Amino acid sequence: MSDTPRTVIVTGAARGIGASVARRLSREGHAIAIIDLDADACQSIVDEIVAEGGTAQGFAADVSDEVSVENAVDAIALTMGPPLVLVNNAGILRDNLLFKMTVDDWDAVMGVHLRGAFLMSRAAQRHMIEARWGRIVNLSSTSALGNRGQANYAAAKAGMQGFTKTLAIELGRYGVTVNAIAPGFIESEMTIGTAARIGISFDDLKSAMVKEIPVGRAGTPDDVSAAVAFFVREDASFVSGQVLYVAGGPRA
Ligand code: NAP
Repeated sequence: MSDTPRTVIVTGAARGIGASVARRLSREGHAIAIIDLDADACQSIVDEIVAEGGTAQGFAADVSDEVSVENAVDAIALTMGPPLVLVNNAGILRDNLLFKMTVDDWDAVMGVHLRGAFLMSRAAQRHMIEARWGRIVNLSSTSALGNRGQANYAAAKAGMQGFTKTLAIELGRYGVTVNAIAPGFIESEMTIGTAARIGISFDDLKSAMVKEIPVGRAGTPDDVSAAVAFFVREDASFVSGQVLYVAGGPRA
């Protein structure tokens, strides 16, 4: 039995994990609203989905900005139908050891991950409550367990877990499930940027990370989108408030 097609919002979906989630949920039959900072950046994944016979549109929005989020969710509801699935994926890194971390580094990371997930969920939930059906999937990280140089990011990603569990409690009675995925080391622009920042090649970073991963390989965006697809399924309706580590082992 295939699932009912829904309108899905994926934030930060111009590339990386978000683009993979968009592709995967399109193949599952859903219409995809791609949110990213820059409309042009959304176009290639929109074109790719449409070329495969799917439905997708790009919407430029900054998830950390209240007005931008409200406008984007209203525009999506108007042009694509009420969004009943939300994947809070947009993310940034501003890594630094605590003594060198600026207030801007702290605020920027909290703004995109936590404030962003809050604003997007608050805007989308009204459609889910009305439909008495919804799915929210939040991107946490193994860094939530602590990671050197990431006090801001680790705090935000741990915060995503508390946010997830609380929304699961509040929204469950309306048929809305809320879950989180905590990826480990995934090959993407984000981890390519990490290698550049610490001054080593991506291959060297990857082999150092892979040594610590029980399944013996780095993760891919598709490993994460497979887990997102599970939480979105119709028959996952009794799974809520969970954090699924997608890390090739129990943790990074
Ligand atoms: P990525 O390649 O850097 O993609 C993140 C996307 O989010 C980019 O397209 C970025 O746009 C967009 N974005 C940033 N700030 C935004 C904002 N304010 N509003 C809207 N969009 C915004 O990252 P990724 O590796 O795919 O990661 C996706 C998610 O998984 C993030 O939440 C990340 O923390 C999490 N995660 C990743 C890993 C990993 O190893 N890669 C591990 C654990 C968790 P711009 O390019 O314009 O900035």
